Amino acid sequence: MDNCIFCKIVAGDIPSSKVYEDDQVMAFLDLSQTTKGHTLLIPKKHVRNVLEMDESTAQDLFARLPKLARALQKATGAVGMNIINNNEEIAGQSVFHAHVHLVPRYDQNDGIKIEYTTHEPDFNVLGKLAAQIASEVEE
Ligand code: 5GP
Ligand code: ZN
Repeated sequence: MDNCIFCKIVAGDIPSSKVYEDDQVMAFLDLSQTTKGHTLLIPKKHVRNVLEMDESTAQDLFARLPKLARALQKATGAVGMNIINNNEEIAGQSVFHAHVHLVPRYDQNDGIKIEYTTHEPDFNVLGKLAAQIASEVEE
């Protein structure tokens, strides 16, 4: 897509530190290097994010994650890894071509915090919400 920075990377119009490429996907180092080896995995086909992704693109994209994650771990000696995907601005998406972050983790005191607030569960509310979501799942 015109003016999409990641489409330009796929086309080779903008340089990137490429880690992996095949017919469907590409992976390259994130400029920000949150930790050493911070990598982005993207579908070559332009799609905004997971909320707009079809199953076949998702299969192509997410199927590559384990081998890429293992390569990254072997190459860097990371102890673990966060795999993160942001959808829409409210969730932290700033580049609107779908991508998955692989963030290798080395040290408990690296200052990175990914926290979800925990609430006392109301199982009645949870049950209703689960049913509501279930009814929206596409065939
Ligand atoms: P988001 O915030 O959308 O989940 O992540 C976008 C990521 O893309 C950011 O971590 C940012 O550092 C990275 N990024 C933005 N522009 C470029 C670029 O031109 N090249 C590379 N390699 N990474 C980029
Ligand atoms: Zn794009």
